[in-house]
Amino acid sequence: MKLDATDLRYISSDEFRVLTAVEMGSKNHEVWAARGGTNKLLGQLAKRNLVSKVQNSKYDGYRLTYGGYDYLALRAMSKRDSVYSVGNQIGVGKESDIYAVADAEGTQMVLKLHRLGRISFRAIKDKRDYMGKRKSASWMYMSRLAAQKEWAFMKVLHEHGFPVPRPIDQARHCIVMSMIDAYPMRQIADHPSPGRLYSILMDLIVRFARAGLIHGDFNEFNILIGRETGEAVVIDFPQMVSTSHPNAEWYFNRDVDCIRTFFRRRFRYESALYPRFQASVNEEGVPQFKLDVVVAASGFKNKDQQILEEYMLGLAEAEGEELEEDDSEDSSEEDVDVDDDDPIVPQTDAAETSGIPDVEEYQDRESQSKDAA
Ligand code: ADP
Ligand code: MG
Repeated sequence: MKLDATDLRYISSDEFRVLTAVEMGSKNHEVWAARGGTNKLLGQLAKRNLVSKVQNSKYDGYRLTYGGYDYLALRAMSKRDSVYSVGNQIGVGKESDIYAVADAEGTQMVLKLHRLGRISFRAIKDKRDYMGKRKSASWMYMSRLAAQKEWAFMKVLHEHGFPVPRPIDQARHCIVMSMIDAYPMRQIADHPSPGRLYSILMDLIVRFARAGLIHGDFNEFNILIGRETGEAVVIDFPQMVSTSHPNAEWYFNRDVDCIRTFFRRRFRYESALYPRFQASVNEEGVPQFKLDVVVAASGFKNKDQQILEEYMLGLAEAEGEELEEDDSEDSSEEDVDVDDDDPIVPQTDAAETSGIPDVEEYQDRESQSKDAA
């Protein structure tokens, strides 16, 4: 969905009041009936695609559109002076839109608009009773939860020195973060030292686990490689889980396997060394800070976490069914093509000096876990 920033400047305070009222109504799955003076204002908002008309047997109603929700979030952030202008779209995810934005000084930042419920929503709704009594999870509600979760995790991770973007602001379904001058690892055709990069990434998985966290979607799209620095920065946190989650080990292994598979296919790099879940979370002598607990205490509630998780599971299930045919290992084994015409070879000077653990470390962990068994 295209984000239209022109409305930001041209909306009257009356229109804004009506729009906010429609938002309130849409939260409760009500439609806002047009009456008297509001009728004209609603018509104007509809023309700007901020609300849409709902035909009803009894009356004409209006509900908030994604455009309207975008507008309200952007307006909130511009009032707080965190966002001044909106630039180009730089990414479209399945569940998000990514834009370049800037503050008043012209500093480039990244705006991520969460768009849960845009696709596959019906499929999930039919299959899962993931909302308990609340039968219809609105796209607004789910998108806002995803943004709040991503915000909570990005903050805690950033505060604890993990290589993630700097969180700048959050409103409704949006977050603003620092822009990383980087390519997704997916676009990298060749690397001077795949073994070193592999080691960095596996170490990051272990660092997450030691802090009580699993990324849950640790793949070549969510790992950015610095254009100048060659350093890895991790993004995209709405599906992070705690290491005390009942399926933690499964999520952990999936993250590890994502990296192993990508390195094998893209760089023809294979290593017998990779981190194991038990050894990573139970290491003696390693300070165990529990960031999962910190996040839970930060205001992102456990119940919200569960609702979002159910949604994500439902989505994965629905997608799994759609993608079943494409899933053969053999057919994609030759998948070394890249998205860009220009193969990108990042510098690794920074990596050489950044204190990357030796690959041996994983070996130690493995033997430790065997000893413990
Ligand atoms: P999704 O949840 O849709 O996968 P992501 O958070 O993974 O969204 O972002 C999608 C894409 O947008 C990334 O692959 C990356 O190319 C770009 N991107 C996201 N955040 C940043 C950032 N902070 N700096 C630079 N590029 C980013
Ligand atoms: Mg992503």
